[in-house]
Amino acid sequence: MPGPDRALRAALDISRVLGDSRVITDPDQLERFGGDESEEPPRVPDAAILPRTASEAARCLSIASEHGVPVTPRAGGTGKTGGAVPVEGGLVLACEKMNRIKEIDAGDLVAVVEPGVILADLHCAVEDQGLFYPPDPASLDSCCLGGNVAENAGGPRAFKYGVTGHYVLRLDVALPSGAILRCGHRPVKGVAGYDLAGLFTGSEGTLGLFTEITLRLIPRPRQVSTVLALFPGLADAGRGIQAVLAAGLVPRVLEIMDRECVDTVRDGGVPLPPGIEALVLTELDGSEAAVAGDLERAGETLTRAGAQDVLVATGTVERDRLWRARRELSEALRSRKAHKISDDVAVPRSRLVAVLERIESIGLAHGLVSATYGHAGDGNLHVTFLWDDPGLEAGAAAAREEVMRLALEMDGTVSGEHGIGSVNRRYLEMELGREAMALTRGLKKLLDPASILNPGKIL
Ligand SMILES: Cc1cc2nc3c(=O)[nH]c(=O)nc-3n(C[C@H](O)[C@H](O)[C@H](O)COP(=O)(O)OP(=O)(O)OC[C@H]3O[C@@H](n4cnc5c(N)ncnc54)[C@H](O)[C@@H]3O)c2cc1C
Repeated sequence: MPGPDRALRAALDISRVLGDSRVITDPDQLERFGGDESEEPPRVPDAAILPRTASEAARCLSIASEHGVPVTPRAGGTGKTGGAVPVEGGLVLACEKMNRIKEIDAGDLVAVVEPGVILADLHCAVEDQGLFYPPDPASLDSCCLGGNVAENAGGPRAFKYGVTGHYVLRLDVALPSGAILRCGHRPVKGVAGYDLAGLFTGSEGTLGLFTEITLRLIPRPRQVSTVLALFPGLADAGRGIQAVLAAGLVPRVLEIMDRECVDTVRDGGVPLPPGIEALVLTELDGSEAAVAGDLERAGETLTRAGAQDVLVATGTVERDRLWRARRELSEALRSRKAHKISDDVAVPRSRLVAVLERIESIGLAHGLVSATYGHAGDGNLHVTFLWDDPGLEAGAAAAREEVMRLALEMDGTVSGEHGIGSVNRRYLEMELGREAMALTRGLKKLLDPASILNPGKIL
């Protein structure tokens, strides 16, 4: 691992390109570039660099390559698996000054953005023009498009609209050599050559640095309604979700929360009746007539599936309050106990009820409080374990491993949307197997031969 001297020499060379003000070496100022929202302990980098343009970013990478210094790309720093943590020190290349929405073209239905654009800003800008960019990770007020593409982020609306990768049309990617590669295409269709944009999407800053992102847009749905179904048990709620799917409804959101999550949301100020063991949150969108019809069918389906009560949240204030609580759930759960771990396995939808039942018993067996929530319509669950007693730490690690194995046993995946980063590295081979791991290593070697880009992640 190269020492700080080498990193500081690289930073000095970079400051000749960017100027001193955009190369940070003061330890106090560097602190904010050291961590993300995962359990990975923060590590303050040797320097942080803040390019403004694609060519500056590419030049920074080639200088880092010359010095053999690690570079960790960073966007909003909201990642849940340690992706933006510079675990081997070196330089953090922060995208915060590459934050322009360069184009919104209503005719072509595309947006062209720099990687440091905050997702909520893009949502507002396109919605102002009657357009829609559906991916909506719950961190949308602080995560950025660069991080979203690097993690192939999902979110509640993925059930109907898919994940970030479904909207990436073209990427400009700065490589460790300093070259800028353009891959993908602006039209919605394009099959020339291998899907290189697909390869870089979800690469977690280990293969290249996105400097420009072209995204597909769609027209904004005219009407949105939210339905809350209250259930007497978690497995009942899982069956409610399966009933909605079986009824042929395609809500844009189909989320689940267990009792601990419901209590947390209620404590956060959302007036939910007492005695609920689980909740299903459904959101329908489309034309006014279609939403009205689907709303009725969803209500009937959820009631028939065993919901104690079905509530409709139509007003903006009501919906906003509910969504704010949902978005803050991950953070709010952290404050309920001294310790928390959280994963985001995904399983085929048909296995949902079996998995929910097993998760509850895994938590109980280890003396942990389970808090499961997430995008259950996609089979994607944020499995959270909470505990106070430090003696339960080994049990929590064992519970986590059991959940990962359970997901794989059910033909699922160890991460539905948060990625591998540093936190989930030990589980990747369990899922991919040896050959796919060898191919993954080969691709990394080809694109980043000196392994300067985000070392310690994925592989
Ligand atoms: C409260 C909360 C809710 C969340 N909800 C969701 C959710 O619903 N769905 C979901 O999918 N995720 C969710 N997340 C996780 C996180 O917000 C996403 O993974 C998000 O995409 C990270 O974006 P970021 O801008 O914060 O990236 P960062 O954390 O800064 O970085 C993430 C990864 O991207 C790489 N990277 C950053 N910029 C670039 C670039 N320009 N080029 C190449 N690589 C780059 C980094 O090296 C790192 O590996 C949530 C997080 C929080 C804290």
